[in-house]
Amino acid sequence: MVVAQAGVTLGELLKAVEDGDMLFPPHPGDEGAQVGGLVACNAGGVRAVKYGVVRSYVKGLEVVLPTGEIVNMGGKLIKNNTGLDLMHLLIDSEGILGVITKVIFRLYPKSGGTATLVISYDDRHDAINTVPKILQSGVIPLAIEYVENDEVEISAKHLGTKWPATKGKAHLIAIVTGANEDEVYSQCEQISQVCQKHNAVDILIAERREEQADILKIRSEIYTALKPRLADGLDITVPPATIGKVLDAVDEIAQRFDTDIPVYGHAADGNLHPHLMMDLQERGILKGVKREVYKAAADLGGVITGEHGVGKTRLGEFDLYVDEKSRELMKGIKKLFDPNEILNPRTAVG
Ligand SMILES: Cc1cc2nc3c(=O)[nH]c(=O)nc-3n(C[C@H](O)[C@H](O)[C@H](O)COP(=O)(O)OP(=O)(O)OC[C@H]3O[C@@H](n4cnc5c(N)ncnc54)[C@H](O)[C@@H]3O)c2cc1C
Repeated sequence: MVVAQAGVTLGELLKAVEDGDMLFPPHPGDEGAQVGGLVACNAGGVRAVKYGVVRSYVKGLEVVLPTGEIVNMGGKLIKNNTGLDLMHLLIDSEGILGVITKVIFRLYPKSGGTATLVISYDDRHDAINTVPKILQSGVIPLAIEYVENDEVEISAKHLGTKWPATKGKAHLIAIVTGANEDEVYSQCEQISQVCQKHNAVDILIAERREEQADILKIRSEIYTALKPRLADGLDITVPPATIGKVLDAVDEIAQRFDTDIPVYGHAADGNLHPHLMMDLQERGILKGVKREVYKAAADLGGVITGEHGVGKTRLGEFDLYVDEKSRELMKGIKKLFDPNEILNPRTAVG
């Protein structure tokens, strides 16, 4: 395990852990994010498929309450059933319950080998529908990301580099890890076979570290590259088996409102980021389209945010997922921790 103070950045944490020859698997896109923020937002990112989101790694917290008292929760423990789990209440509390000052994270041994596959498709529905098939085949990759060709081209251009795949309109990026190179190779074979069966038009396997890092960098920077034309980046999450249906629904909404909705995201987690562009704002229909996308996710048993959180901007759509009683309980917990409402008022639970 590793103990980190709240101001340590993800980049610093990853380096310290690497120097200790261990692995901290989660990798949300912003390495400048600090440990306190990563835990307060329960960040996810690309590598959640095999090992889970930040919550899965937090074993202990030191928290300063709004009343000034200091509370320690959890510890360097694998099992702990002692009382209500306050630590997990603090994770993803978006700064409304207390200030996290120290975190104990669980680490894993480093893997012996890794490879990144870029699997290209002419039809984006073939791409997304292959994701459950890969998972059902028995291979659990570290990541399976869904990206569209236009987005990765823009991101690569923004970075002054080149997207390596030359075919296809949509791509899956699968990262596999194993104890050794043979295990990695056999996982790549298995994934390739599944994808070929589901109409992949090209499969590229990157093994060199720099080559793999470049692909991930292009994926991570899509948001920054699209940002100048972006009105709102959504974060819907649906049960993974329904990911194809939610993409159909987004297509239908785009068609109905005569717009383009670029989509990318953490496909194997059922977590997609449909991007609503400036034209919707200019036409005065941004809010309506957003609500339609949220409703489509909620109708499939999904949620309006899987990793970005509620903050202030999603409070208006809270009712699509959280019922009246649950909201009352959340507000009661906030009041108990923060009787004077001094921490992030009107955030996360209203
Ligand atoms: C380019 C980019 C890519 C990203 N990609 C992903 C991704 O793939 N997946 C994902 O999940 N996220 C992603 N994020 C979001 C990022 O992970 C979060 O913004 C980050 O975890 C928040 O940490 P921060 O230090 O930036 O916190 P801040 O932005 O400073 O704070 C965020 C919230 O946490 C609260 N908070 C901060 N520190 C504490 C503390 N010590 N105690 C209590 N509350 C606190 C704040 O009050 C605030 O409400 C991305 C962000 C960027 C910019």
